[in-house]
Amino acid sequence: MHLSVRLLPLMLLSIVLLVACTPVYALVPTPTAVVPDPSPVARAAPILAAPTPTQAVRSFDPAPTSAAVPSPVSPTADAADEQEPTGEAAEVPAPEVAPEATGIPTPTPRDPATPPRVGLQVGHLRSNELPDELARLRTSTGARWGRITEAELNLDIVNRITPLLEAEGVVVDIIPATVPPGYDADAFLAIHADGSTSGGPRGWKLATPWRASEASKALMAAVGAAYGPGTGMPEDVGGVTFNMKGYYAFSWRRYTHAITSTTPAIIVEMGFMTNAADREILFGQPDRIANAIATGILAYLKARDPNDGAALLPPDYPVMRALAEGTIIRAIPQDNGRILARVGPDARIVPFDLQDGWYQVFTRVGDQRIVGWVREDQVAPTNEQSVFPTPTNP
Ligand SMILES: [Zn+2]
Repeated sequence: MHLSVRLLPLMLLSIVLLVACTPVYALVPTPTAVVPDPSPVARAAPILAAPTPTQAVRSFDPAPTSAAVPSPVSPTADAADEQEPTGEAAEVPAPEVAPEATGIPTPTPRDPATPPRVGLQVGHLRSNELPDELARLRTSTGARWGRITEAELNLDIVNRITPLLEAEGVVVDIIPATVPPGYDADAFLAIHADGSTSGGPRGWKLATPWRASEASKALMAAVGAAYGPGTGMPEDVGGVTFNMKGYYAFSWRRYTHAITSTTPAIIVEMGFMTNAADREILFGQPDRIANAIATGILAYLKARDPNDGAALLPPDYPVMRALAEGTIIRAIPQDNGRILARVGPDARIVPFDLQDGWYQVFTRVGDQRIVGWVREDQVAPTNEQSVFPTPTNP
């Protein structure tokens, strides 16, 4: 009962259209210096055929008719970026629909005896088997170093994380590139590694989906808090790309083979396979990577309230328009933040987060795709359907 009550404020918020919601080393590529796992694939026994997601212990109305998430292509989606999520980019976000029209989500109380379930996706694994709706990603094999593919590295790490979680009573699904339709779990982590055309870029980074639930944010915070100290690797600050946030497995509005809207999710870019210092950890000390990720996941599971249904709901915002010419989009949610752009009422503004009176938004100015912050009181909601052109692949 009190769960429904807890959801009410959230629904009201949505209705009122208020909100709540993200080095350089000279490198001589010498693969022989790497200490890769000799045969990461060989240890791959547990690749999941299909983790029956429908047996999920909780059920929510995913409100599929609400507005779609914007998923533009990142301006930073450069060489270090992966191609796979590219097309997530928004094609036709659905028109905003008042959340109440889809009914109030009704969390089903969990059986206390139900063990937590975590999905670990091995990025790019068997991408050739992706379904038709994701056919364009079948050739997405990710980064590589010498003969070592990213999928092999990702699999090696996932195979090291799995027993650490299982030892704590967590049920783990190891998931290839193809996500079972409507996959539902207590956490979903897409495990990836980066690559760059130069050896310079390094470090790790995490991202939630564009419109992130409080649970996804908490999962990211927990893994982030463990990863840096646990691995000794630097964070690739500012390196999160639009493609990470628009990752296909997160795009439950668009694809059948995606997680449910209420599954807390992050994508983990563990480091750069193309950077010598990162390789020393990724290949030379893979258990540090696995331990850090497992520690973060377990910390998240321990801290969360499994019955807090509201925390699992992604926020929902209508398309907005500026109230006046010259409305400023800033780099940070502060009046003295760097100015990224000035927009007028002609620009569609798509919010995906709200913090302290500022929307974090996606918009376009000319050919430029911009993510920044705009004051809540300087924009107004519309009932428009926002249409984005299909992005180009990097
Ligand atoms: Zn990848």
